[in-house]
Amino acid sequence: MPEKNIYDLIIVGGGPAGLSAAIYAGRRQLNTLVLAKNIGGQMGISDQIENYPGFDFVTGFELAQKMFQQAQKWGAQFEFREVEKIISQENTFVITVGSGQEFSARAVILAFGLTSRNLEVPGEKELQGKGVTYCATCDGPLFKGKTVAVVGGGNSALESVEYLSKLASKVYLIHFKNKFTAVPALVDRVKTIDNVEFICCARVEKINGRNKLESVDLENIDDGPAKKKLELDGLFVEIGYRAKTDWLKDFVELNQSGEIISSRDGKTSRPGVFVAGDCSDSQYKQVVIAAGQGAVAALQVYNYLVQKQGKKILPDWGKARST
Ligand SMILES: Cc1cc2nc3c(=O)[nH]c(=O)nc-3n(C[C@H](O)[C@H](O)[C@H](O)COP(=O)(O)OP(=O)(O)OC[C@H]3O[C@@H](n4cnc5c(N)ncnc54)[C@H](O)[C@@H]3O)c2cc1C
Repeated sequence: MPEKNIYDLIIVGGGPAGLSAAIYAGRRQLNTLVLAKNIGGQMGISDQIENYPGFDFVTGFELAQKMFQQAQKWGAQFEFREVEKIISQENTFVITVGSGQEFSARAVILAFGLTSRNLEVPGEKELQGKGVTYCATCDGPLFKGKTVAVVGGGNSALESVEYLSKLASKVYLIHFKNKFTAVPALVDRVKTIDNVEFICCARVEKINGRNKLESVDLENIDDGPAKKKLELDGLFVEIGYRAKTDWLKDFVELNQSGEIISSRDGKTSRPGVFVAGDCSDSQYKQVVIAAGQGAVAALQVYNYLVQKQGKKILPDWGKARST
């Protein structure tokens, strides 16, 4: 049997944290594999990024493509898989993806960001991708001329309604309160759109449909509307994001929100496992911060692997200059 390929580094995630880590790891000549569900992550669905240094304006998609190409140029390999399990075995980490295939590495960077929250109601799981979706920017064009609803009351939800109103024939906004966390100017603007209807003080109780979404049952809250069933072609769930770390709870230390506890230089509670970006307990969740943390984590991996071989670590560029 051929010997199993053991990478120096496996990075879980293809958002700005993972891609930046891949660029830095490549430049340090680490044999690196990126396992990611997609390229770009949350950044990839941002229509406009105006706070990434060097760009007055860039779409998240374009920035993600540039980072992806740069990571490939420095030798990082990519497999588009969902990671489900990680264990420590002798001197390596073994990572299992959805298909059951295993990948091994001497060090790991966890950079899998945040995942959209689910409604957790009957029918949701079965109809995901069959009318129930979590990204208006990605899936909106599939609902041209159709009737859709957005669930949520924050900026993402209201921005999605505004965007979808230009594509769909009718857009409902379902929110469990009659107050919104979205900025007031955005709420006021959306309220004036002709094909938009607000359904406040109501909660989605059940999602119905055989092979595709047909309707939702609404549960009224307080003095919410009497309307019970809403016929729909699309349901956009925009109720925020969370660190989906249930599969890691016995592997690395997590905080109460499920985020991975990290030192300032990206170390987790387990030697050899590093973290970067939004899935860490860092206070600020932004593209430039995730990219910076990815760079730090990759440099730490390099030092960790060199030290394990009993060799001296290279000073970084700044330190080399000052000595
Ligand atoms: C709508 C929206 C607009 C935003 N606008 C801005 C903005 O203008 N400026 C700004 O600075 N920030 C913005 N942000 C925040 C910014 O996008 C995030 O802070 C940043 O993308 C975090 O990067 P990350 O690499 O940590 O995670 P993500 O970008 O979330 O990437 C995570 C990656 O991990 C992958 N992944 C997840 N789970 C697994 C798994 N189990 N196995 C394999 N791969 C997995 C995903 O597919 C993805 O590739 C915005 C976010 C959103 C949602």
